[in-house]
Amino acid sequence: MMTRSDIKAALAAGHAAAMAVDGGQNADYIPFLASVPSDLLGIAVVTASGETHTMGDAGYGFAIESISKVFTLALVLERIGAEAVREKIGADPTGLPFNSVMALELHNGKPLSPLVNAGAIASASLAPGDSADASWDAILDMQSRFAGRPIQLSATVNKSEQETNFHNRAIAWLLYSAGSCFCDPVKAVDVYTRQCSTLVTAEDLAVMGATLAAGGVNPRTGEQVIKPEHTAPILAEMMMEGLYTASGDWAYTVGLPAKSGVGGGIMAVVPGVMGIAAFSPPLDTAGNSVRGQAAVAAVAKSLGYNLFTNPLQA
Ligand code: GLN
Repeated sequence: MMTRSDIKAALAAGHAAAMAVDGGQNADYIPFLASVPSDLLGIAVVTASGETHTMGDAGYGFAIESISKVFTLALVLERIGAEAVREKIGADPTGLPFNSVMALELHNGKPLSPLVNAGAIASASLAPGDSADASWDAILDMQSRFAGRPIQLSATVNKSEQETNFHNRAIAWLLYSAGSCFCDPVKAVDVYTRQCSTLVTAEDLAVMGATLAAGGVNPRTGEQVIKPEHTAPILAEMMMEGLYTASGDWAYTVGLPAKSGVGGGIMAVVPGVMGIAAFSPPLDTAGNSVRGQAAVAAVAKSLGYNLFTNPLQA
């Protein structure tokens, strides 16, 4: 039986593990991200029944970035169903960086995963709403329902991203030319860029992860946010591509579905049990938070959670 003091000890272990690693750099290709203090460190655990534990800067609001891809995927699963998502976007790792054009070229313009930029722009193109503002409202509403509080766009982050997202605009047009962007590509990349520019805290991410852990029920609000059958495909996509080119290493060493963002956030899910999240801006070369990964891995290890261990022997 996991007790409150087990979770407290796990957070302390997570903090110690994070502080024991150094290195990495804030993302700087989005100017705003380069300006965030590098020494921030927040860790949070929220259980499927809503018990919350936090440590350090778990209340600091940072840019959600690629973690937003999970919630737009959730929205699109609700709209068109799991089979259509797999057919239109895919469910395989690309083995290439998150913004790879090569990955698209190698697969006839099919993104393979909704958790790389191309697949996330394709997802945004499948969000409900005829105008960019209508699609945006649906995406923001989904992020908010997962977090259990109104999530907001940061105008500063959004401006910084919109002024520098040339590579993503090119990806949107390549998708469109291959038949894999399902609305005006200018609209799709605008909405995608906005979805990356909301502010969340490590505690928010743990609630969002706990909602996935609890079969789509937000443990704080009690709302069934998505259909229970849509959590498994989301977690599978996270396991395949959630940490980009490091996803295999992560599965091998930690064994939990997780998703990172270049803002420094990382959210992991123990199905049926809890969300574990961390925030620390410096990233490794794959684009994952150096200390965030160490923290989440140590929390999971301390509590004995790895999906690939035999629960009968634990
Ligand atoms: N907004 C960022 C981008 O599109 C998100 C990337 C990420 O977090 N990996 O490049």
